[in-house]
Amino acid sequence: MLELDGVTSRYGPVTALQDVDLIAEQGRITAVLGANGAGKTTLLRTISGLHRPDSGRIRFDGQDITKRSADAMTRGGLAHVPEGRGVITELTVEENLRLGALGRSTHRDAVRMDEVVDLFPILGDRSNALAHTLSGGERQMLVIARSLLATPKMLLLDEPSLGLAPRIVAQIFAIVRRLVEEQGLSVLLVEQNARSALSIADVGIVLGLGKVVAQDDAQVLAADENLRHAYLGY
Ligand code: ATP
Repeated sequence: MLELDGVTSRYGPVTALQDVDLIAEQGRITAVLGANGAGKTTLLRTISGLHRPDSGRIRFDGQDITKRSADAMTRGGLAHVPEGRGVITELTVEENLRLGALGRSTHRDAVRMDEVVDLFPILGDRSNALAHTLSGGERQMLVIARSLLATPKMLLLDEPSLGLAPRIVAQIFAIVRRLVEEQGLSVLLVEQNARSALSIADVGIVLGLGKVVAQDDAQVLAADENLRHAYLGY
């Protein structure tokens, strides 16, 4: 479904990604792991059209998307949920959600809104609350829910566990897993929290200083003690 072939991305003299090959299959969770500065965020920004790669090819859903704009990527079925929440704190939960329907307001969008709120009941309970009153976990749920309203084929999730209590992380990851199982969604999950990510992922990719150092079934990576010590921090 998503395939990177020899992708290199630089910021001036800094090479953030070097010759990255990666495959993320449909209906699966692919976790991208690695320490601070390994290139995880740059990888997502490069895929979603926010950062132009210096070389290499990116294909999504059968099409070459290497030079597409971020807008075109969203319409094409890729939803990027950036690190750091990204809710509009002066708006209510419901208003934030409506932004995710890309300005449309059809019957189908209303049904989709109901489906999404079913997945995250807390957002239904708090629909009239201003987003700045939400907890960190609730904000993360809101941005994921909002991205689902555009009915993406693939979610690109950047560090959804950041700053959240383990119990909340487990709750959010369980919902992501459910979306994959029940709706066939594909997910590229970027995480520093390798242990939690590997527990829900099908496949894992480990980045070290911008290069892919391992790519295998999540269970195989989780069982590799040397790799865990060297790159995954547990
Ligand atoms: P983190 O978990 O801290 O976000 P990361 O794995 O997502 O780390 P990136 O943010 O992709 O890593 O950064 C990869 C490399 O690119 C790092 O060396 C970083 O300093 C550099 N970098 C990232 N953004 C920029 C930028 N806007 N300008 C210059 N260098 C950058």
